Amino acid sequence: MAGVSRAIRACAATSQRTLVAASAVALPKEARVKAATVGRRGRGPEDGRRVQWAFLGCPGVGKGTYASRLSQLLGVPHIATGDLVRDALASPGPFSKKLAEIVNQGKLVSDEIIINLLSRRLEEGEEKGELGFILDGFPRTMRQAEILEGVTNIDLVINLKLREEALVARCLGRRMCSQCGENFNVASIDIEGENGGAPMYLPPLLPPPQCESKLITRADDTEEVVKNRLRVYHDLTEPVEGFYKARQKLLEFNIPGGIPESWRKLLEALNIEDSDNMRSAVA
Ligand code: AMP
Repeated sequence: MAGVSRAIRACAATSQRTLVAASAVALPKEARVKAATVGRRGRGPEDGRRVQWAFLGCPGVGKGTYASRLSQLLGVPHIATGDLVRDALASPGPFSKKLAEIVNQGKLVSDEIIINLLSRRLEEGEEKGELGFILDGFPRTMRQAEILEGVTNIDLVINLKLREEALVARCLGRRMCSQCGENFNVASIDIEGENGGAPMYLPPLLPPPQCESKLITRADDTEEVVKNRLRVYHDLTEPVEGFYKARQKLLEFNIPGGIPESWRKLLEALNIEDSDNMRSAVA
């Protein structure tokens, strides 16, 4: 146990150096964040820092899509720990073999491994002069949340929500272009309204012709593994929502429909004013 706690302390110490360094200056002029959500907390861009945000939400909810759009809009890096894990899986050797066993069963990798990967990514960003960040897929356990909270000031945590039947369909429909790395979704999802509520339609996000023959599916996007990932989310990550709620940093956002509508409403919920140019570039 002593070894484990030493390792966690070391993780936290490494994170502290890198996370604290990833602080900030003002927003780029394309995006103007008004007083409400960010400013009210007094730690957002209004005090001259770049945002330090994180996304929570079940697999398939669209964290990557919205985190990536916000990162473009706000000019801060989008750091997805799932991407860091997939990069580590791509390098040959016993470490990636062990990692693949865990990931392909839909389990979480250890807090120690994920914090090492994240710290390394932040260090590389720091060397390139990156400021602020939008985390996607981190923290995913209470321990990760506690470590993060101990080493830096997260301004806001956006918790994306979508009905469970849509989540499974979205994961099964997910495709990536093996050449350009763009993400798509071939699923066309119709959800009946609940308790007399309005039905919801989530249209597919189809690839352009040049990507069609190069689409790949994630090994952990099979039905069995997705269901396991959802169980893991409920058991280990849901408590993290309460952690940030108690600290008044949680913004709950129910995905209302397809990407253009959800993006517009998310910007409204965040009180972010997007320039017309930027809106058409990303919608
Ligand atoms: P994602 O792309 O976010 O669904 O992540 C893919 C996989 O990477 C997850 O199912 C986990 O095995 C692993 N992973 C990503 N982020 C974390 C994290 N914060 N903690 C533990 N494992 C993670």
